Amino acid sequence: MKRVLLLLPTTGYRNDDFLAAANKLGVDIVAAADYCHQLAPSWGMPAVMALQFDRPEQAAKTVLAEVEGPLDAVLAVDDSGAELAALLAERLGLQGNPARAVRMLRDKLAFRQLLREGNFPCPDFHHLRTGADLRELISELAFPVVVKARRLSASRGVIRADDAQELERAVSRVRAIQSRADRDAGELGLVIESFIPGFEYALEGTLERGQLTTLALFDKPDPLDGPYFEETLYVTPSRLPAGIQGRIRSQVARACRRAGIQTGPVHAEVRVNAQGIWILEIAARSIGGLCARVLKHLLGMSLEERILRTLLGEPAAAAVTIADERAAEAAAGVMMIPIARRGVYQGLFGLTDARSVAGITAVTITAEPGHIVAPPPEGASYLGFLFARAASPADAEAALRIAHRRLHFIIRPEHPVIEWS
Ligand code: ADP
Ligand code: CA
Repeated sequence: MKRVLLLLPTTGYRNDDFLAAANKLGVDIVAAADYCHQLAPSWGMPAVMALQFDRPEQAAKTVLAEVEGPLDAVLAVDDSGAELAALLAERLGLQGNPARAVRMLRDKLAFRQLLREGNFPCPDFHHLRTGADLRELISELAFPVVVKARRLSASRGVIRADDAQELERAVSRVRAIQSRADRDAGELGLVIESFIPGFEYALEGTLERGQLTTLALFDKPDPLDGPYFEETLYVTPSRLPAGIQGRIRSQVARACRRAGIQTGPVHAEVRVNAQGIWILEIAARSIGGLCARVLKHLLGMSLEERILRTLLGEPAAAAVTIADERAAEAAAGVMMIPIARRGVYQGLFGLTDARSVAGITAVTITAEPGHIVAPPPEGASYLGFLFARAASPADAEAALRIAHRRLHFIIRPEHPVIEWS
């Protein structure tokens, strides 16, 4: 029986989907999670190996010392474990990416440097060190700009600023977010780069021996103009002209080569405007949240299963091809349900109504009653996910919008105002 080490984030949407895929394939799972082993039992978490994903060298040593018997693959469920997975694959001689490449891709500053050196379209960017005086940089900036934490995700710590005053506020807010979320915040500093206008697209792909296969190209039909960049709709297939789609694929493939990644999932985001195709980010991981579920019918298996198969060297060809699918449902979409305001999530109305919208295949609420929810730039989660399938991308998008309008979420302020009568 093959053995896979799964790196599970403490709070991850997809742990269950990866565990299910591993069970389906009949592989033996060695689980490691990103939490403190002393706290784990009191949280009711199972006794798995506790590792600090953000200390990959140290964590790799722990794995090599503690895991008995051979491993056939190491797989990180999300971005937080990607560098550790790469490092372990290197040390164990397994399929994977160079750890250096994964580390570079996770760092928004290093990735911009890579783009610039590779002559890719790239916004002007600057490194703002911790403690550095912002005023010294201002004369070099052309507004609007985007302020970013170096290696957070889901638009956490990303804010647009249109003038010097907004910039000052954005910088102090992003600094605060990064110091809470990344213990290397002090050394990292921030990135400030020019705002790239245009619509956004996401490419979901997989690399095998350096060859990129596109599994799906998604349109993001909601404009993402800031000041915060909460993700909402992803719809596939893309409605872009075939020529532009081809250029996106080849641009992303070239950037993967340049970065030196060659195996496993790739999630890339680009902006398109008259000046060209601008790669916002390439990540050596698959699509986040529960969004991967939107691809199941296209792949003939879950994306998680497909990723595991590729890693284990098992056939990953789709059991079902699009041609076999009813043409009536060739398009699909997912909505990451945005959080309207920060507060304590209490529950919702309208679930049944939303589920009954034609084309809606699932409504999955992931927010837990009693928990604090927050939109970006502070938060990095969603209330849940809506899934649709339809004859055309426009129909899938419309179904998602209609279903979303039928949902009413109750979020009460964290500190309720006491009213005296
Ligand atoms: P994350 O890793 O948090 O997803 P990204 O760099 O992808 O960080 O930024 C999140 C979102 O912010 C992007 O999807 C995009 O909508 C917006 N964004 C980031 N950088 C720029 C930019 N230079 N110009 C315009 N929008 C940007
Ligand atoms: Ca992104």
